[in-house]
Amino acid sequence: MKTQKSENTGCSEKPSGSPERFMRQAIELARRSVSEGGGPFGAVIVKDGQVVATGHNQVVPACDPTAHAEVTAIRAAAKALGTFDLSGCEIYTSCEPCPMCLGAIYWARIERMYYGCDQKEAAQAGFDDAFIYRELALDPAHRRLASCRILADEAREAFRAWEAKSDKTEY
Ligand SMILES: [Zn+2]
Repeated sequence: MKTQKSENTGCSEKPSGSPERFMRQAIELARRSVSEGGGPFGAVIVKDGQVVATGHNQVVPACDPTAHAEVTAIRAAAKALGTFDLSGCEIYTSCEPCPMCLGAIYWARIERMYYGCDQKEAAQAGFDDAFIYRELALDPAHRRLASCRILADEAREAFRAWEAKSDKTEY
């Protein structure tokens, strides 16, 4: 995965385009989302200095607990570009992502993230995901989520089928 650099060069690299302009767009999406019944989060995905897709939080209006701004934007960007691989893209999100969205950003191979608010400010607004970050570090047996492993041998059959498939698209 291209995102797995040995070192996080973060903000020291020269950004492409105008980061503030795209961040303002993400913030505006977040503000508008509130008036439309969504949560106060917006995200913009940019490639080669052009906006590829945008997203805002739609958890309540869409009855979808995964409809966070970043996931919504990633889905739209992948559809717009016709690929699951968003290498070369940047994401601008009005708030530091939750664990689900951060994971989605890695899976999408997005190479750079800009964020506005941080986790602490999100928690103050009633969106505290710190416990999920803490849960991730725990062994499944010690998580708040009751996690029971069953039928491991049968479950492995899907992996065997995948390994045996010669014409698969790896991702
Ligand atoms: Zn999220």
